Amino acid sequence: MTSPHKTIVFDLDGTLVDSLPDIIASFQHAFASLGLKAPTDEEVRALIGEPLEDMYARFAPEHVSTLCDLYREHYPRNFVNRSRPNPGVIEVLRTLRGRGYKLAVATTKRTDMARRFVEALGMMPALDHVQGTDGFPHKPAPDVIHRALAALGAEGLWMVGDTLNDMEAGRAAGLRTYAVTWGNQDAETLATSAPDELQPDLGRLLEHLPPLPRV
Ligand SMILES: [Mg+2]
Repeated sequence: MTSPHKTIVFDLDGTLVDSLPDIIASFQHAFASLGLKAPTDEEVRALIGEPLEDMYARFAPEHVSTLCDLYREHYPRNFVNRSRPNPGVIEVLRTLRGRGYKLAVATTKRTDMARRFVEALGMMPALDHVQGTDGFPHKPAPDVIHRALAALGAEGLWMVGDTLNDMEAGRAAGLRTYAVTWGNQDAETLATSAPDELQPDLGRLLEHLPPLPRV
């Protein structure tokens, strides 16, 4: 009998990638295209991690579908203008892979957009699976994590994220939770969810995950 692959699940935006400026710019661009006053950077930032439709509904419920269309046309042409992997992330992914772990992304972005984004950043080879949220409940529901693990036939060990939704989803999926403070929510906010680790980097994650025995 073979044991399932041990897998680490990562949130994408804000966690693996510093992607907020490009998301905010595309979000605001859609308002400008319609001649509407765009929300401020801070107003957009506060909602990142929610589905796009929900974000637009907060500001212009009567224009949600048009704004989403404008965003989805603009964002892929501009999503790596400023977005980059966070410092040290690629090295940590390589190290974990080398130690025998599988690596998955679980994001609230739609899967097609998430994969195009990861590919444009050149990060696809560092990951085993990129799972987006396509018409099922988004984080904090655990569904996107369950789907990622099912796609790999894997057992999840840790959920790594930058928001309370990531921590709640990870816990609901039965994973240990690792909050990074370099993303969209600050340490004080993240502490309210009592994650198993609350860290300014991924160093402790590596300490928790020694090389797996070769089978
Ligand atoms: Mg995030």
